[in-house]
Amino acid sequence: MNYDAILTEALDQLRDEGDYRTFAELERHRGAFPRATRHSGGVTGDVTVWCSNDYLGMGQHPDVLAAMHAALDTSGAGAGGTRNISGNTHQHALLEAELADLHGKEAALLFTSGYVSNWATLGTLAARLPGCVVLSDAKNHASMIEGIRQSRAQKRIWSHNDMADLEAQLASLPKDAPKIVAFESVYSMDGDIAPIADICELAQRHGALTYLDEVHAVGLYGPHGGGIAEAQGLMHRIDVIEGTLGKAYGVMGGYIAASTALVDFVRSFASGFIFTTALPPAVAAGALAAVRHLKRSSVERDLQKTRVAQLRARLDDMGLPHLVNESHIVPVMVGDAMKCRFISNLLLDEFGIYIQPINYPTVPKGTERLRITPSPVHSEADLDRLVGALGSLWSRCQLARRPMAAQ
Ligand SMILES: *Cc1c(COP(=O)(O)O)cnc(C)c1O
Repeated sequence: MNYDAILTEALDQLRDEGDYRTFAELERHRGAFPRATRHSGGVTGDVTVWCSNDYLGMGQHPDVLAAMHAALDTSGAGAGGTRNISGNTHQHALLEAELADLHGKEAALLFTSGYVSNWATLGTLAARLPGCVVLSDAKNHASMIEGIRQSRAQKRIWSHNDMADLEAQLASLPKDAPKIVAFESVYSMDGDIAPIADICELAQRHGALTYLDEVHAVGLYGPHGGGIAEAQGLMHRIDVIEGTLGKAYGVMGGYIAASTALVDFVRSFASGFIFTTALPPAVAAGALAAVRHLKRSSVERDLQKTRVAQLRARLDDMGLPHLVNESHIVPVMVGDAMKCRFISNLLLDEFGIYIQPINYPTVPKGTERLRITPSPVHSEADLDRLVGALGSLWSRCQLARRPMAAQ
């Protein structure tokens, strides 16, 4: 068997379809984000990053860096093991208390990433609640899908944000079967927002647990950064709120916030929590500083909203097609994998602008896009440069202008 030949053939097929992924090699500079140095074939160049999920620039915030330095100096590098075996540090306890408070819940539990928190929590709940059925929104993130799959529980997929479908599916299930309705608040690729109140209403009527992924909303929405559920006054109606510390909070890690019993259950039974080394104390300390800062400060959130509105207005002026939504995510639609990659390459090579193309399987074929995430650390001059570059590439690639992609 020539294993490499089999693997290479699969990769060649990806390439032929324009879906092969390449990563830009960027060197970030403290205090200079969104500016970075790009390394390519021994050559370096300056770039401006427009596709980061460090949505508010907290990965550079002086409070976050100071907290990480201090924890490194007081507590050293690693946690020293799993939480079970010598890895349960003071910083973890402080951060969990802060996160429980942020979401108005009795308890919170940290994981090494948001991916692991979804996978471990859904996997554990669905597997161990006898006869559990998971009702999963069609656009849920891979980490939720994998968790549900691994649980081997029965799964029902409801059409994205479709309340009639969710209701019909709930009604078709036995009254006494445990049910989990799993969904996101802000969907990361289209930037649209779930009708959380309606979903809670249906779930309550049918006796289902609600599981909400607020990964693209924590830090960004609500007066304290508690997410869309906080902004809409609905946190108390959600049973499990899941978030990441790696996006708007600028560091790394994931968590759930829920009742004491539910958190203790996951802590006690989830393989993905029990059998892996805990986050380094410095990471927990940095995340704690970011959460605390964004609880008190709305300056970053407000400026981000301004930049998002400014970008949308400039795109409209140029007739550049972008999906309309209520969030901070601006998907500029290309609709072709090859062209999407080509434009992304030219933006990088000719304009020093980094926007990773979003192709299949992250989004359906035919909806390839540039996903732009304006932040408070982008200036208006940055916006002008970006939109100017996009306008000239749109002409060069003979792509349609509005109203084409107002889907
Ligand atoms: C990124 C993402 C996650 C995973 O979070 P990480 O902390 O990056 O592992 C979970 N859910 C959604 C919707 C995401 O986009």
